[in-house]
Amino acid sequence: MSKQKKSCPNLNHNRVNVQLRFCAHCGDIVNKKIAPKECSEATHAQRRKGRSFHCVDCGEKLITGSAW
Ligand SMILES: [Zn+2]
Ligand SMILES: [Zn+2]
Repeated sequence: MSKQKKSCPNLNHNRVNVQLRFCAHCGDIVNKKIAPKECSEATHAQRRKGRSFHCVDCGEKLITGSAW
């Protein structure tokens, strides 16, 4: 039942002043101080094009399937 910590290559995890709540790669919270936002579908569509796995504002998974 223990959650294994996977190593995420996203540099946001190591930064101190991250202006994003969620990591775009693994979807983990990188800065709890930043409030989650509600995004429009257009925002998510744009992020999908930018190949973000997760939305950095609301944490929603954008790319599903066997991307990794
Ligand atoms: Zn991450
Ligand atoms: Zn979002």
